[in-house]
Amino acid sequence: MSLELQGLGVSRGIAIGKAHILFHNQLDVREYLVAKDDVEQEVSRLELATAQAKAQLKSILDNIPANAPADVSSFIDTHMLMLQDSSLTKIPVEMIRNRRCNAEWALQLQRDALINVFDEMDDPYLRTRRNDVDHVVNRIHRLLADEGHTDIAIDGRLKGAIIIAEDLTPADTMLMQHQGVAAFVTEHGGATSHTTILARSLGIPAIVGVGSLRRYIQDNEPLIVDGETGTLIAGADSSTFQEYQQRLIRFKQHIASLSRYKSQPSQTRDGKKIFLHANADSPEDITTISNSGAQGIGLYRTEFLYMNRTSPPEEEEQVAAYRKVAEGMDSQYVTIRTFDLGADKTVDGGRNLNQTVTNPALGLRAIRLCLKQPNMFRTQLRAILRASAFGKIKIMFPMISNTQELLQAQHLLQRCKFELDKEGLEYDRHIETGAMIEIPASAICAEMFAKQVDFLSIGTNDLIQYTLAIDRIDDHVNYLYDPLHPAVLRLIQITLEAGKKHNIPVSMCGEMAGDPRYTRLLLAMGLENFSMHPNALLEIKQIINETNLGQLPKNALQILNMSDPFDAELLLEQINSPTH
Ligand code: PEP
Ligand code: MG
Repeated sequence: MSLELQGLGVSRGIAIGKAHILFHNQLDVREYLVAKDDVEQEVSRLELATAQAKAQLKSILDNIPANAPADVSSFIDTHMLMLQDSSLTKIPVEMIRNRRCNAEWALQLQRDALINVFDEMDDPYLRTRRNDVDHVVNRIHRLLADEGHTDIAIDGRLKGAIIIAEDLTPADTMLMQHQGVAAFVTEHGGATSHTTILARSLGIPAIVGVGSLRRYIQDNEPLIVDGETGTLIAGADSSTFQEYQQRLIRFKQHIASLSRYKSQPSQTRDGKKIFLHANADSPEDITTISNSGAQGIGLYRTEFLYMNRTSPPEEEEQVAAYRKVAEGMDSQYVTIRTFDLGADKTVDGGRNLNQTVTNPALGLRAIRLCLKQPNMFRTQLRAILRASAFGKIKIMFPMISNTQELLQAQHLLQRCKFELDKEGLEYDRHIETGAMIEIPASAICAEMFAKQVDFLSIGTNDLIQYTLAIDRIDDHVNYLYDPLHPAVLRLIQITLEAGKKHNIPVSMCGEMAGDPRYTRLLLAMGLENFSMHPNALLEIKQIINETNLGQLPKNALQILNMSDPFDAELLLEQINSPTH
């Protein structure tokens, strides 16, 4: 009898293979006091384990192929940095010396303190980075417990396997990619977890958040993974296997056929030009972006520059980073979003977390924090302006909720320009500014903002979160996430109309823009500027290039008034049907 388990499909593709179960034994962290005379020996034990952990990661980093996506090494780099950070090197040692805790206990106490800090964070991406702490601490714990071999053995056994795990570390993921695994399925994780991001970058099908995997799946049993629908099938009959074999072949053909779109312009069959941009997080993304055929960067998330460090980046460091992106993109625009850090991630890049915030997503984040920390904001604005002398840059302000915020931001920008003038430093005098529409109130009043800026950009990830009152990273309410909800669609429409009326471009840079299910609907609504993960770009271009706007169903926009989600799905299918 077959068994179907449902999770969140986070990286598309079909995989058929045998299960390889990869659950680490639960580590028993021993807690005891060490004798006074043994304290220094205990400190050495911890230091040795930390050094071994570093050596293990270094060896993995050294073996990353040159053509691997930048995400892969950056995650492992992050772990290396954590292993060198005083929060893991000094504080547990002090605990051993001052409190005479054993090494495992000291490390565990510090792990709990760091996890608390991450749990308080507002930004969903950064909150999921609590996993980094766990992965790094776990590695040291295993070494302390003398489970020396903490990584996956490279012995070729994993070729074509479907990995079934509780969660995966970046190092695991990397080693498995080397061995040609077919898919990942994990119990934990969400849309922004490590496994998700890496699996997408590596193009490996993945499902996360499948509860009780361990209970249902046995080692070596044949499985089918559908990374799009999030379905894991065990014990399938031969006709199901055949059906998925066919789908796998079609999927591979489809991916292979996309490369021809790289050099094609993106425009609908009836000649409407559509602009396709990429989202980026670091200068290292440029190679992937150039290979995707993107026409520029529609969202450059700068908060990653502020992560994993004890103080925010200085102006010079920021100028260098932004300049590298601008120069790397050559004659194409890079839209730099000012830092979208959260309530707790202030001047020290996320460590000075004394306040407790009840609703961090509704708290002091993004532009609110920028304006509350004018010096830090000024440093960034000056850096962006200075980098604009070396390439084409636009500035975008996140999470704008009223016109005052926008005016204040623009006022600060103006001041920075005066300063640079006085100092004789070059910048683009006509640099464009834009506002992100991520809050329902701002979408409803998009016209107010349209009068003040050169462009608008719809951040659907937050817009959907705030419209439907669902925390982006809360697994319990994930099922309510619905880009087709009429409220979401109407807010998008209002924003598009505001742009049209005031003659400014409106872009969309949330996940919805890179989801092929919504491309035709968004085209029908009048969206002309998309920005997305570079891996999604060619597929979206293919849909655009195969669409004849004039032939889309006349009733397509009725979806904005559909009270029944089932009817909305049916109409979407009709819009997406190949005959249109
Ligand atoms: C969004 O909210 O849709 C967006 C693009 O910004 P981020 O995901 O960085 O919050
Ligand atoms: Mg956002």
